[in-house]
Amino acid sequence: MRLDILTIFPEMFEGAFSLSIIKRAQTKGLVDIHIANIRDYATNKHKRVDDYPYGGGSGMVMMIEPIALCIEHLQSKTSYDEIIFMSPDGKLLDQKAANNLSTCRNLMILCGHYKGIDERIREKYITREISIGNYVLSGGELAAAVLTDSIIRLIPGVLNDETSALSDSFQDDMISAPVYTRPADYKGMKVPEILLSGNDKEIYQWRQNKALERTKARRPDLFIED
Ligand code: SAH
Repeated sequence: MRLDILTIFPEMFEGAFSLSIIKRAQTKGLVDIHIANIRDYATNKHKRVDDYPYGGGSGMVMMIEPIALCIEHLQSKTSYDEIIFMSPDGKLLDQKAANNLSTCRNLMILCGHYKGIDERIREKYITREISIGNYVLSGGELAAAVLTDSIIRLIPGVLNDETSALSDSFQDDMISAPVYTRPADYKGMKVPEILLSGNDKEIYQWRQNKALERTKARRPDLFIED
């Protein structure tokens, strides 16, 4: 998968993408991430990317031209399955959307900042708008990093244990069973006996029951969905 992220703060992705699973996915050649600095496409003298809002009011708005030029430059070389805009008024990100996007070949993700981006960008170029929650962030960068992580870990070959992503919460509309590791007894706090039994069938059943129990108790809404 090729992923192009458009931002005015490229440095914000350095830490997030240089460690752990996203790093491994890049090293293995399973994902090719490119960060485009929108400021490089500003044609004005001071490389400005934001301006005052028409009609007045607080906050600056990201200008249409640098973003349009950046998108068009990338589009001239690659055809994108989706051009995504991170936005609090977009569709809420869920596991289903991550699963769906993980099958794409080329994705573009645009990060807004300040008061947002000129609406005409959304009308002309954006094919999908995604929110990571009902709260407002200062910029789309952290949201794009969250989206990227949720997608990349689903690409076949990225996780060592192929079945691992499938047993995570929200796959099958369930949340995950609790997990434990050594020691089996920590200051009297014991790991459930069944997990030490070596009986795979019973362990599987226990995990299923726990997952169901937890979903009912913590996320009853997952049962009502669909
Ligand atoms: N004025 C806008 C908020 C702008 S916040 C409004 O009221 O809707 C600046 C940028 O941060 C947005 O353009 C978007 O790219 C990003 N952003 C903020 N909150 C987000 C969220 N919950 N999910 C995804 N992106 C978000």
